[in-house]
Amino acid sequence: MTKRVLLAKPRGYCAGVDRAVQTVEEALRLYGAPIYVRKQIVHNKHVVATLEARGAIFVEENDEVPEGATVIFSAHGVAPEVYEQARDRGLRAIDATCPLVTKVHQEARRFAAEDYDILLIGHEGHEEVVGTSGEAPEHIHLVDGPDSVDSVTVRDPAKVVWLSQTTLSVDETMETVTRLKDRLPLLQSPPSDDICYATQNRQHVVKEIAPSCDVVLVVGSRNSSNSVRLREVAVDAGAKAGYLIDYASEIDPAWLDGAETVGLTSGASVPEDLVLEVLAALAERGFTDVEEVTTVNERTTFALPRELKRDIKAAAGNGN
Ligand code: SF4
Repeated sequence: MTKRVLLAKPRGYCAGVDRAVQTVEEALRLYGAPIYVRKQIVHNKHVVATLEARGAIFVEENDEVPEGATVIFSAHGVAPEVYEQARDRGLRAIDATCPLVTKVHQEARRFAAEDYDILLIGHEGHEEVVGTSGEAPEHIHLVDGPDSVDSVTVRDPAKVVWLSQTTLSVDETMETVTRLKDRLPLLQSPPSDDICYATQNRQHVVKEIAPSCDVVLVVGSRNSSNSVRLREVAVDAGAKAGYLIDYASEIDPAWLDGAETVGLTSGASVPEDLVLEVLAALAERGFTDVEEVTTVNERTTFALPRELKRDIKAAAGNGN
């Protein structure tokens, strides 16, 4: 029996995560430790532990940051009141919000200014949803999946738009939208996709490989929305089983009993090193034939936050 691995591409780091992690690294280099980070910079255990070891201190709220210190806001975005709190405490704030999340914030502000009711499809309590909702709490109603549609109420069914969290399942979101449109036929759609390119691309390639896989392993943390969705998408698309793991050591050998083909991918906040460790663990169990399945080559990159670039430039000018 040939034991093979179908390795999904694209996988792992997206442009927003890459930028957020680099922001913390550059801030540590430029200002020195400690650097405070509000919430996990990205939802990955390993990334957070690595940055902690270098001098980043992760906090839940701004009031845990000493006055005058540097605080970085995570890739998931924050509500406007969080910037205000930072200003009030005299913090040097660096905003590592992914530009694709900022785009959704801008849409929320624009539709709220035009007095729309905004149906935000997303997961209750997720940091991104909390941040986006904070842009216009009086206009935004959370719709947490297709089953929440029936409880939606709006002021004017002719003036309502849907927006979404960036890391949802594309198919489940479309199901939610279809159900919403059954109830609200004049519901408007966002000007462009809110589910980001990285989420869509990672789901697309997993759907391609899943029907050929006995097991799909997704490297990612349990609080990573896009990683959790990848496992669900794999199983929905025909993988016989799917598991989410942070590390290779979490693979239960029983999962691989009788398996011929293992699919492997990783969430948008997962460094490639962790995938390589899983490949090595699979090779030890005889899965040495690795075929990379590529659906698209991603080229998106984002520049570092403006406030950090300015300080890097100024330090270079001073010969530091
Ligand atoms: S998953 Fe998408 S929205 Fe989130 S950080 Fe990456 S590119 Fe940005």
